[in-house]
Formats: sequence, structure tokens, C-alpha cells
Amino acid sequence: MDSTSVAWPFVLNHASAGAMSSNHPVIRVKPREGRRARAGTPWLFSNEIEMPAKTLAPGMIVSVLGDDGRVFGTGYFNPKSLIAVRLLAASADVAIDAEFLGVKLKQALSLREAVYRAPFYRLVNAEGDGLPGLTVDRFADTVVVQITTAGMEALLEPLRAALDDALAPAQVVLRADSPARALEGLDSYVRADDGGRIAVEENGVRYFADTASGQKTGWYYDQRDNRAFVASLSRGKSVLDAYCYTGGFALAAARAGAKEAAGLDSSAPALALAEEAAAANGLSCKFVKADVFEELERLWASREQFDVVVADPPPFVKAKKDLEVGAKAYRKLARLAASVAAPGGLLLLASCSHNIPPERFALECAAGIARTGRTAKLIRQAGAGPDHPLHPMLPESAYLKALAYALD
Ligand code: SAH
Repeated sequence: MDSTSVAWPFVLNHASAGAMSSNHPVIRVKPREGRRARAGTPWLFSNEIEMPAKTLAPGMIVSVLGDDGRVFGTGYFNPKSLIAVRLLAASADVAIDAEFLGVKLKQALSLREAVYRAPFYRLVNAEGDGLPGLTVDRFADTVVVQITTAGMEALLEPLRAALDDALAPAQVVLRADSPARALEGLDSYVRADDGGRIAVEENGVRYFADTASGQKTGWYYDQRDNRAFVASLSRGKSVLDAYCYTGGFALAAARAGAKEAAGLDSSAPALALAEEAAAANGLSCKFVKADVFEELERLWASREQFDVVVADPPPFVKAKKDLEVGAKAYRKLARLAASVAAPGGLLLLASCSHNIPPERFALECAAGIARTGRTAKLIRQAGAGPDHPLHPMLPESAYLKALAYALD
């Protein structure tokens, strides 16, 4: 990925026209189309609308009306995207400015403040917080902003003003480098006020994250509750954290009194941050750079077993067309992970693939475990925590699946 680091403030290369106006161009929904949007889904697909005769720049704010005059709301438009309009408000001609964004940010903030005592959480989760195309992770006075749509990119200036007003962050890191941006015709870049390395406090552990060049925003808040669950069952146990990244599960288990904890990952920079975090917390953990499939085969061949095994891989099903190949990989991982779990052990298998349905993932995990000849009890089915709210009409956007099994 071609990313550069330059400081805010910056010059916008994308259209922001219309953002401050309250008299927006109109997009018409075709007759009898827009059924999902009528029921409350905040999206209109490109085949559901009359493409405007006059060209509208990607990201332009529009009012959406039915052929019968029915108001769908105010949103932003991108002729290049399959999701042509993402709605921001239920009325037409709503001004989408710093004040509008500030109200959404403050609502998002008050939800997190009600749930968490410390200022470490996902502050904005896109449609789930009424701000499509935007995710914001907060690490005390640093915020990491991810923009995935042309519409949100066009709102960067008022967004920065709204963030300053709501939080006055000391540092803002802009990660505009998600692969999803290509679907919107956007380029890839990173902009940071400062260096990217920060501390994260979670479940009583101090971790480190690289917000400018780590994966996604540098930290996976989505697994917080699952890490706490694993930690709660790790006292006095041996724990293997496969795909440990910066030490998320392994260090939570070590803090909870695991008798030994080991992490495997292929990323040397991630493992270096995990090592640093172990030292900062005075915890002893072994982090090994390895390919997880190869290392699990090796551990199995040498009959090494762990009381608690976690496998939280990168997405194996990146696109719908990869479903069968990815599903097989989840099955194989479940088999290998179960084969290194000790008798009576705990196994946590996770998937962050949007494109594998939860039932299919559960089926592959069950089949993989069964191949080892072990029986298992599915004791917990979980997803991301409450700082990852979903739009109620988009339950399928719950990408994270975490299944915990008690093995015989
Ligand atoms: N469990 C982590 C998040 C894991 S993200 C947490 O709690 O924060 C997936 C991780 O898999 C990344 O750190 C990536 O470096 C690693 N990875 C990807 N392919 C791998 C492979 N073949 N072997 C080992 N690690 C791999």
C-alpha cells in the first residue's frame, strides 16, 4: 500500500461542495425501488436511483426523494459506488456541517462514557453511530480516524472541527489506507500529527499500538470482551495465542495468572510491541515469529498441548468468491488448534471475515474439531463489544465472530 505521512492540516483533493449548503441537489428513487431504504436501511443502491443528468461529484451531499415525493433523507452520493447514497439524516436538505457531525460525535461519546471508565474505545463505528464511512478509535488524547467513503472524505474539514470541539484531541491520525476505499475511487494515504506509537489500556493491561503503520487503526478494540473472557478462564493454565498481533489475548491471560502464555504471529513489528508490553506490565510471555499453520503442525507432531488455545486469524474470506476456500481454511485451523488443546481445554476460534455467515463459520469450526476425534461444548458465541454498535437494519455488518468451546 502506498502511504505517506504528512501533517494536518492538509489540502483536500476531493470535492466538498454542498457540505455547508442546506439546499442540496436531489436524487430520485426509481418507482417501486428503495424497499430496504423505505424500511429504514440507510443505503440506496445505484440500480435503485435515477442517475442525475448533471454530473455530481463523488461525495456530494444530496436530498433523496421518491418519485411520489416521499422524503428518504439527506445523504452523500457517489456515482462510482454500488452503494450510491448513504443517508445521514431522515429529512431533506439537512445541513451536514461541523455542528451536525458534532451532535453525532457527542452522542457516540456519551454512549462510550456510559460503558467504559477509561478513554480507550472505538468512538465511532460508521453506520452504527450514524456516520457512514467513518470509524474513530480513541486512545486517551489520541484519535485515529479511518475514512472509507468519498462522502466522508469530503467532510474532513468540518469533521476535524467537530472532533476538536467534542474531544480536543492532542493528536489526530488519519488512516485513509483501507482497501475498501478503492470501491469509492479513493486513493490511499496516512496523515499524522506526530509519530504513531501510543499506549492502550484494556482489561487492566497496558499494551502498545502503532497507530500510523500498524494494522487498521493499530489496535483491535473489537476483541476486548473476548480477551476478558479468555483471561477469566486462564488462571494457572498454559495459554497459546495464535495470531497474537501485539499480544492482545496472551497478555490478558498472563495478567490473569496464566502459568505460561505464548503468542505466535508472522509480523515482527507486532511481536516487538507485544514484547515491550510484556516488559511494561512485568509479565512473562513468550512471543514467537512463525506461520501459525506450520507451527501448529509442529506442536501437534511434538505432542505439545496447551490448556487454553486462541486462534484469531486475519480474514480468510476477503470477498464472497473466496467463501469455499476460506471456509476450508477455517476448518483446518479449527482442527489444528483443537489438536494442540489439552484434555479439558478451552478453545476460542474467531473470524473477522464479513463474507462468511456466522452459521457457516460455526459449522466449519465444529467440523474441524470433530476431525480430531474430540467432543466439544460450544459455551459462548460472541462478537465485538458495545463500542461497535450496529445500525439496527444492518445486522450483517457484525463481522466479528468468536466461538468458545470446552473440549473433552
Ligand atoms: N488476536 C489479535 C489480532 C489478530 S489480527 C488481537 O487480539 O489483537 C491477525 C494477525 O494475524 C495479524 O497480527 C497478522 O500479522 C497475523 N498473521 C497473518 N497471517 C499469519 C500467518 N500465516 N501466521 C501467523 N500470523 C499471521
